[in-house]
Amino acid sequence: MGSLPSTVAQNVAAVQERAERAAERSGRRPSEITIVGISKTFPVERVREAFELGIRHFGENRVQEWESKAPLVEGLDATWHLVGHLQRNKAARAIRLFHTIDSLDSLPLAEKLNQIAGEGRRLPVLIEVRLDPTATKLGCAPAELPRLAEGVLLMPHLELRGLMTIPPMTPEPEGARATFRKLREMRDGISQQLKCPLAELSMGMSRDFDIAIEEGATQVRLGTALFGARHAAR
Ligand SMILES: *Cc1c(COP(=O)(O)O)cnc(C)c1O
Repeated sequence: MGSLPSTVAQNVAAVQERAERAAERSGRRPSEITIVGISKTFPVERVREAFELGIRHFGENRVQEWESKAPLVEGLDATWHLVGHLQRNKAARAIRLFHTIDSLDSLPLAEKLNQIAGEGRRLPVLIEVRLDPTATKLGCAPAELPRLAEGVLLMPHLELRGLMTIPPMTPEPEGARATFRKLREMRDGISQQLKCPLAELSMGMSRDFDIAIEEGATQVRLGTALFGARHAAR
């Protein structure tokens, strides 16, 4: 009398298979790709469930929401990512709650994080690049990337690991491919220019993560594909 697998269990199996197939198509190893479960709007029970199924990375886009949920999963040995815009006045709260800031978008924010991360700590960060011309506030402009990356590399308490982006919404998921390729090229270019190999590319969400993997994603951020439909539109 086995019980039926939960929806999250079915979703985890399905996304792992989709990720593996995409990796194979592009001659990559599935182990190169990390699934980051984006749990915004979902109760922590879903996070716990996904953790039990082997997901070890989770992300939220708002400091305040995670501040109320984090205590409920204290002790869970996962890596918590901030993937949404961070205001400088919330930087101190953010670094208490998250292991990595994947949405670093300005030099003043980097300076603030570097200052409060403090001695003995190197906070991993990704720079979010704005490749969607219709988005106005998310990510640094492509033209600003070299200066921001160079600045972050000089900061002793930040560790620049790579780049992140959110592609423009296109009618078909395939439409995001050019954006993913562009981010990979920018990562390669900046790594060479600054003589510092940046390993991580966080790109691809529920609708297009297989395409992102084909274009080199090392982290895919999955909300609905893992946890189901969100009622709030974000
Ligand atoms: C919500 C969100 C995601 C996940 O979106 P889905 O389409 O549900 O997979 C990924 N990245 C960021 C930055 C988000 O805010």
